[in-house]
Amino acid sequence: MDNYVYTIKNKIYINLTNRCSNSCDFCIRQGREGMENTPLWITRDPVALDVISQLPANLNEYDEEVVFCGFGEPTYNLEALDEVASYLHCVDKKTRINTNGQANLIHNGDVTDVIVTSCDVINVSLNECNAQKYQLHCNSVFGQKAFDALLEFAQKCKEKGGNVIFSVVDSIGDKDVVECKKLAQKLGIPLRVRVKE
Ligand code: SF4
Repeated sequence: MDNYVYTIKNKIYINLTNRCSNSCDFCIRQGREGMENTPLWITRDPVALDVISQLPANLNEYDEEVVFCGFGEPTYNLEALDEVASYLHCVDKKTRINTNGQANLIHNGDVTDVIVTSCDVINVSLNECNAQKYQLHCNSVFGQKAFDALLEFAQKCKEKGGNVIFSVVDSIGDKDVVECKKLAQKLGIPLRVRVKE
């Protein structure tokens, strides 16, 4: 059975697709079957009902925030994301997306309205401090333009009232973390620096 929903501790996560426009050197999917004993490689992308039917019955006992973050870039399955988010909002949940920020390239048009409506927190993986380094480590199918596109995506979401944050992992090195901080500050978007596990 395909798993579209998994839980870690008290949090619910949604696995909408295995597709991704990146092939990051550090991708968590490498050599893994899934997370916390839940296999996350799926045979097809779900529709909203597939996801909703896998949500735990005791939803109230889980964290208020549900996260779109599986073994792929969630915005590839935008329709299911939008519909599942609407459902979650109706049952008093908040939503967060962990995204590579390339949705507008993936859909060849501006989809930030859907993202801002669906996601209460938009966590964009900045990963690096410039386009060259980003492409070196993230290997986007869109090439070096992916980095500028993710910056623009984050700015558009912010302009539309979205709660946007950037994230990087400290393993990129102190110097590059400082550059990322400068970039984030310039755009007025908070930066979360995660410690590499
Ligand atoms: S963007 Fe995320 S899912 Fe895609 S390759 Fe990079 S780490 Fe993996």
